[in-house]
Amino acid sequence: MNPTIKKAETYFLHTYNRYPIVLEYGSGVYLFDDSGKQYLDFAAGIGVFALGYANAEYNESLKKQIDQLIHTSNLFYNKPSADAAEKFAASSGMEKVFFTNSGTEAIEGAIKIARKYYFNKTGSAEGEIIAMDHSFHGRSMGALAVTGQPNYQKAFGPMIPNIKFATFNNLESVKEQIGEKTCAILLETIQGEGGLYPATKEFLVGVEKLCADYDLLLMLDEIQCGMGRTGNMFAYQAYGVIPDVITAAKALGCGIPVGTFAARGKAAAVLEPGDHGTTYGFNPLAGAAVKTVFDIYEETHLLEHVLVVSNYLEVQLDQLADCYPCIKQRRGKGLMQALELDFPVKDVIVKAQKNNLIMITAGPNVLRFLPPLIIEKKHIDEMIRILKGCLEEIQ
Ligand SMILES: *Cc1c(COP(=O)(O)O)cnc(C)c1O
Repeated sequence: MNPTIKKAETYFLHTYNRYPIVLEYGSGVYLFDDSGKQYLDFAAGIGVFALGYANAEYNESLKKQIDQLIHTSNLFYNKPSADAAEKFAASSGMEKVFFTNSGTEAIEGAIKIARKYYFNKTGSAEGEIIAMDHSFHGRSMGALAVTGQPNYQKAFGPMIPNIKFATFNNLESVKEQIGEKTCAILLETIQGEGGLYPATKEFLVGVEKLCADYDLLLMLDEIQCGMGRTGNMFAYQAYGVIPDVITAAKALGCGIPVGTFAARGKAAAVLEPGDHGTTYGFNPLAGAAVKTVFDIYEETHLLEHVLVVSNYLEVQLDQLADCYPCIKQRRGKGLMQALELDFPVKDVIVKAQKNNLIMITAGPNVLRFLPPLIIEKKHIDEMIRILKGCLEEIQ
């Protein structure tokens, strides 16, 4: 057995079944393992490495910041994180930003805004949040409680109370859950882990209207679908919807662990000194990463690029679906795409790895495509060629 794999399996808590590949370095849209084998990466570290690997400007900026100052605590100010917050606000329409260290922590912050919003209004801390079935919001206890997948929750109860679930893309089911104590509705603009389902325009606009009618906070989890993945900086921007609270992470730092929850209007003033905190969050290294990510998106016109290549990806995936009856459906937006097959995709993933392609799943029968946003048409052709080969072999 590979000594690294042996060591990891000896000492890591066994919370993952990993693929037997030890990755060593990356370049652009390719990863290389410890034997020098090259992989085309259509997972991007689960939607993180938007700029690809070894991006020179990003790496230089972080190296400079490491030499200057990595950490300060939040008792003081630092320029990189102030710059990053300004960039985030400008591109999202949010007014106030709180940086965290992960996606799940961003969700915890959003939950706290919702609960305190209700508390300020009523004097009661029993505000109810409506979340969606098949959602995924993270693994910490609050985020787990709003994750609509009972198998993730069942061994870890009791969940935090006053969470209700509705059916995604079913406005009536959301209406049914609204009661006296409802204070917020939380959903992914495009459900990721739960099988890759974009919200319909009718649904999201309808939820926004319900929030306005009942004075609820509209909280959109853009951790996977945000940061340019759909060709808009944030997926909700294509719907003409303006949320009160959003969360982001994954591509936000392009590899440096950083997330955020951000708020506008009535939601922006809810949390006050003492209500929330973090030791690492807002640190200058994370701030420099976020600021540099926004800079590079602007300089390289990355969103326009995503629109062009994602059109191409959709066409190629649709053609593939036409050729192979085992493909039941393509769904997705931009560079967040999925193919649902009529059999478990595990073998396809493993065969693809043998043939130099890294992909991930979104549920047992769903292949998920989350390439780095710098992907080009030739890489899409390469992916399609390999995937075709795998499907041929399996059939
Ligand atoms: C990945 C993800 C999370 C959790 O983020 P972590 O950084 O893994 O804690 C939350 N919501 C969505 C939509 C995600 O895709």
